[in-house]
Amino acid sequence: MKRCVACNGEAFVETTEPDEVTVAGRTFTGDVLAKRCATCGEVYVDAPALARFELAVATSIADAGDVNGETFHYLRHALGFTGAALGELLAVPPETISRWETGQQSVDRMAWATVATLATERAEGSTRTFARLRAMQSPPKLANSVRLEVSPVGLR
Ligand SMILES: [Zn+2]
Repeated sequence: MKRCVACNGEAFVETTEPDEVTVAGRTFTGDVLAKRCATCGEVYVDAPALARFELAVATSIADAGDVNGETFHYLRHALGFTGAALGELLAVPPETISRWETGQQSVDRMAWATVATLATERAEGSTRTFARLRAMQSPPKLANSVRLEVSPVGLR
């Protein structure tokens, strides 16, 4: 952003803004990077920083294993998936995603675990499980023979 939307000012000071979200009865707080207009004081939260906060909340939810519709919804939200897009990835009708999130039906534990993994991997900058689910949607023609490089270092 070049100019303040409120006053048209051009000078900004880097700051942080407290953020808070409550999911399934647990409240998560954190400070998110923001810019404050030096002229009028209007605060603009940094969008990537906000996305990182949401993924940090999602990671905390994922690690706690709090399986329910509300946490499933938050995990999906943090990933930025529509119900239809996530349903396609999980091979589940969007109506089922909706029933899980509204509590009309118990969330499938394996689906929840998969979405939790997608969220924690996104927070870590990995797309491995996402890529795997995409590959499962339309399996490529695979080679009959695969040569693997195996590390000579022993397992820890
Ligand atoms: Zn301003």
